[in-house]
Amino acid sequence: MHEYGIAYDIFETARRAAVEHHARSISKVCVDVGEISMINPEQVEFLFKSIVEDQPLFAGVELVCSVIKPETRCECGYVGSEIYVCPQCGALPSVEKGREIVVTNIEIEADEE
Ligand SMILES: [Zn+2]
Repeated sequence: MHEYGIAYDIFETARRAAVEHHARSISKVCVDVGEISMINPEQVEFLFKSIVEDQPLFAGVELVCSVIKPETRCECGYVGSEIYVCPQCGALPSVEKGREIVVTNIEIEADEE
């Protein structure tokens, strides 16, 4: 399942960041999900929750997925969000953004020194 791999990647990224910063817990993980990534954010959230279920570091964590609009570009100079047909010349635009899943922010609780 594609979504499982993504959820696991998010988990790994957050866990590594938490360990690096000597975090006590992770409260929030923000993820940008490209609209044309063919990923179901709800499913990623569900799988993420099941992965972190028995991880004390992730107790009470919130996963926030923001859907990101695609950004495309065409040889004729068109820049916009049409992914199938360029509205200026009818060619197939190339996708610059909108396919990726990126962890944008991780909020952690660290021990006071
Ligand atoms: Zn064009």
